Amino acid sequence: MRKLTLLLLFVASLATEALAQHEIKNIIFLIGDGMGLSSVSMMQLENHYEPTIFDRAENIALQKTYSLDNRVTDSAASGTALATGTKTNNTMLGQTPDGKDLVSLMDIAHERGMQTGLIATTYLQHATPGAFYACTESRHNYLTITEQLVASTIDVAIGGGMAFFEEQYGSKEVAEVKLNKAGYELIEDMETLKATKGDRRVMALLGAKEVGENSGSYLAEATAEAIRLFEERGDEGFALMVEGSLIDGMGHGNDAKAMQREMDSFMQAIEVAVEYAEESGDTLVVVTADHETGGLAIVSGNADFNLSEQGIEYRWATDGHSGQMVPIYLYGAGAERINGIMENAELGAKLKALISE
Ligand SMILES: [Zn+2]
Repeated sequence: MRKLTLLLLFVASLATEALAQHEIKNIIFLIGDGMGLSSVSMMQLENHYEPTIFDRAENIALQKTYSLDNRVTDSAASGTALATGTKTNNTMLGQTPDGKDLVSLMDIAHERGMQTGLIATTYLQHATPGAFYACTESRHNYLTITEQLVASTIDVAIGGGMAFFEEQYGSKEVAEVKLNKAGYELIEDMETLKATKGDRRVMALLGAKEVGENSGSYLAEATAEAIRLFEERGDEGFALMVEGSLIDGMGHGNDAKAMQREMDSFMQAIEVAVEYAEESGDTLVVVTADHETGGLAIVSGNADFNLSEQGIEYRWATDGHSGQMVPIYLYGAGAERINGIMENAELGAKLKALISE
């Protein structure tokens, strides 16, 4: 009898394993804007090589970030590649160079009855979040992008960007009427977000433009709230994009301390996502960057390696972006299914394919 029970348990565990291999119910896609391998290495070093959330990845890969018209991409072209699976020119958002609208991961998720969400530290009309719902020839068409956000199929959006709503619709009040008509509840602070039941779709605009530098636990809290709302709203699965938006700005400013602060905030959000993936068993967590910013190098304070270490320096090669490959970290259901060196667009296409199975 005992043997039979053990056999049944064994068969049941095999069946669960098979299911886990094939079923990716939720995707959490975290993008560190401007996060290079050197940014990750800096965090490992600053953490005295104690395991970081990156060290806990179950699988890794690399992606090439160049755009169709520039070997050094901007966030619009790389965001479009990651969101839609198609490369385009710099500054173009959700469109091919000849102006054809592209279909994003969120469009596919919505079509399949999944819920969709976007979280950013910057304004929701910025290039990276914008690539997941907007189609326009320039990332700088903020008012068009604002209208496209209102008309989008995104269920939960958390970030900054109220200033563009006021500019587009004349006032906050009119913007709220527009949002309500589109089925959105407008939320303007984290406390209200935490209290909302999400009976309607949620547009949380927590800042005029950016949510704020030194964003601390904001990104992790927003990620937890989005997951809570998805769970309360239904059981169809979800696709959520979370952007650590300001890592990029700190790279542009060649400010290592500030980059560490933004990286730390981003890493807290990854921890929330990975914890959820561990609990749920059917969630794929993908962490990557759109490009590296600053050309950060970690060099020895003294190049004579016959000596013991004389200190470390962070040196910057540019105040712009660089053309280095960026890492992909994978956790949870299906983590083994993304491998090798790929184009940024290949990763985007793969994620669309995985939720289409
Ligand atoms: Zn940048």
